[in-house]
Amino acid sequence: MESIYGLDLREIEALVASFGLPKYRATQLLERIYKKNALSWDEVPALPAATRAKIAQKFRLTALRPVEKLGADAGSSKFLFETEDGHLLESVLISQKGRETVCVSTQLGCKVKCVFCASGKGPFIRNLSAGEIVEQVARIARQTGRKITNVVFMGMGEPLDNFESTLKAVRLLTEPWGFALGARRVTVSTAGITPKILEFVRLVDGRVRLSVSLHSSKEEVRSELVPINRRYSLKELVAVLKKINRDLKREITFEYTLIEGVNDSGEEALGVAAIAKPLKAKVNIIPYNPVSEFGHKPPSAQTVQNFCRTLEKKGVRVMLRQTAGQEIDAACGQLRLDRARRTE
Ligand code: SF4
Repeated sequence: MESIYGLDLREIEALVASFGLPKYRATQLLERIYKKNALSWDEVPALPAATRAKIAQKFRLTALRPVEKLGADAGSSKFLFETEDGHLLESVLISQKGRETVCVSTQLGCKVKCVFCASGKGPFIRNLSAGEIVEQVARIARQTGRKITNVVFMGMGEPLDNFESTLKAVRLLTEPWGFALGARRVTVSTAGITPKILEFVRLVDGRVRLSVSLHSSKEEVRSELVPINRRYSLKELVAVLKKINRDLKREITFEYTLIEGVNDSGEEALGVAAIAKPLKAKVNIIPYNPVSEFGHKPPSAQTVQNFCRTLEKKGVRVMLRQTAGQEIDAACGQLRLDRARRTE
């Protein structure tokens, strides 16, 4: 059964009309779902009870069941949800500097299979629907009582591999009749599905922020870390990003997971600077958060500092993101993986 979360303005209007209700009922329903984040039909009093019962026969109001929450109320918290078909997905709330950012998952598992990521370890199950993506935001807002200010598509899955649902979720989050977040407060991250990047940026009119997982400035190293690089090379990726930056005047952020002895050399730092500088791109450095199967470690604090300094000296904006979530298994997909193992 389809969830109401995930229906857009036109679909809700059509739904309301199909029950013979006036158009203003659509506005009331949208208000209850996307502004008040209703989680039960009792929280939608504007609709007559008989109509609610009829709609409930065709649509679920929600499609996710909260399973577990890890982490302190301040800082980062991780949430595990169960889908209707019994699969687990996870989302993270990061409370920092007055911002409440929800990191959403877009797929159950991930086909990209980056070697350092827990999400790529298990099997790929399916794409999440737009409703399942945005309901993560609604549930976390309700569960914590926080006003969500930002959403990042950086949880389980490759957003551009679930193109239509990601696009719709972005609309639901940013439209005035939806969650009404400023488009600049939504970031979509990709491992580099090159043909989809340009299409996505064009379709969202470049309004949401684009973040690209770089992880190495060398083709062979990047192919080891992010296997999709064998299909869509770094050279091709950089060419597309240049086009986006030059023709569409859009900013790009790179994510760079720093792993000891793998991609933390001075030569790599110079290579990253050579890619980022012409694009005027910011680089987020994330010291690696160990996943038990991948036998690597984060670099020393000194190496991290040297790497950042080299970039800064080359005139690249750098943000060092600490692995604040280590104590709550905040590496993407890790909680879900651990839980699956415990269940086995
Ligand atoms: S880092 Fe992202 S793209 Fe790579 S395997 Fe994990 S979820 Fe997929």
